[in-house]
Amino acid sequence: MEIAKDKQLLLIRYGELGLKGRNKNIFIHKLVHNIRTALKGLDGCDVTSTWGRVWVTAEPGQAAEALQRLRCVFGIYSISPAHAAEKELSAISAVAFDVLQEALPAGGTFKVETRRADKTFPGTSPEISRAIATYIFDRLAGDSRYDADMHHPDITVDVEIRGEGAFVYGATVPGAGGLPVSSGGKALLLLSGGIDSPVAGWMALKRGVAIEAIHFHSFPFTGEKSKEKVFALCRILARWQNAPVKLHVVHFTEIQKAIYANGEAEYGITLMRRMMFRLAERIAAQRRCLALYTGESVGQVASQTLESMAVINSVIDLPVLRPLVGMDKEEIMALARSIGSYDISILPYEDCCTVFLPKYPKIRPVKAEAEKLEENLDIEALLSEALARTETLTLS
Ligand code: ATP
Ligand code: MG
Repeated sequence: MEIAKDKQLLLIRYGELGLKGRNKNIFIHKLVHNIRTALKGLDGCDVTSTWGRVWVTAEPGQAAEALQRLRCVFGIYSISPAHAAEKELSAISAVAFDVLQEALPAGGTFKVETRRADKTFPGTSPEISRAIATYIFDRLAGDSRYDADMHHPDITVDVEIRGEGAFVYGATVPGAGGLPVSSGGKALLLLSGGIDSPVAGWMALKRGVAIEAIHFHSFPFTGEKSKEKVFALCRILARWQNAPVKLHVVHFTEIQKAIYANGEAEYGITLMRRMMFRLAERIAAQRRCLALYTGESVGQVASQTLESMAVINSVIDLPVLRPLVGMDKEEIMALARSIGSYDISILPYEDCCTVFLPKYPKIRPVKAEAEKLEENLDIEALLSEALARTETLTLS
């Protein structure tokens, strides 16, 4: 790897990927691809994968922006801004001094740690570390704000000496973790305008599953604003996906009207959600999505009891993944804030379920009951009409 001395280096670690055995290269390839996509438009950036890491070189003026974008790339465990140095002790020491000053401008404790991969370089790793520390203390000239600490330093100045050159890095920022998006295939996210489902989508992305989204819209009972809210949520998810999100908007009004015209309010939510799942499964098949994701959590609302989930789930074969299943609302809200979806989710626009919400929804529905009520509905006709009216948008 050739590194121009005037470029800023970003060293990228991918923790969990290292465990993937023979698939490791496929994962790394995906990660490098996703990093390249995330850095699109930053012309001076270059991405290489070598020595068990990914390295980004950036023009100094673009390094901060690059770092910001990399923090939204799943599969990255941590990132350290690094500097290249001539492979010579005094040059390495000078760069180490700069790295320390950059990482701890107001002082603090540090230690120097060296990895001497190039065995032709004179001295042992501990000897080199000590020599660099001595140089640093000489240049600090008694500045009492700095001190060495071998056990719990504020930063470790890491020095790597390799065949190709030497690298020095200090501060390390955490990455998003998880696995590279789309290394785990693609799924269909049932995206309402609420707080939970965008978080569920983010959880899919975090585990390497790319997403498309489906939204059920009850025009004219729910307006343009509620649709735009879902577009905005897709844009947030697109940022984490590092790629546009395809959104399928299904006109759900006729189905809801048919269910309530049937006179059955108590089972309204159950029947509505059975229709949602059927539609989602069909769109998933068309779009080669391997599972559905929802923002359900156990016990949150009437449709999220185990009895409800069983009756709703029974109409389809596709796996339904519910990454929020064990989380409390508070935990979900905190995550929504850190993802950036919370402020959009709390905008006060009607959702299709709240429009038709019955006074006393059935909390423990019975499958045979639901099936009996559905005999009065022309399920196939309702499904194909809704599918025919589905619009697909791409949001980035
Ligand atoms: P959310 O905050 O995600 O809206 P919720 O707590 O309001 O969830 P429900 O309204 O029961 O719960 O919805 C449960 C899940 O069903 C949602 O997380 C979402 O995955 C899906 N869902 C609900 N309404 C819609 C909709 N209009 N379009 C697409 N999916 C929906
Ligand atoms: Mg909701």
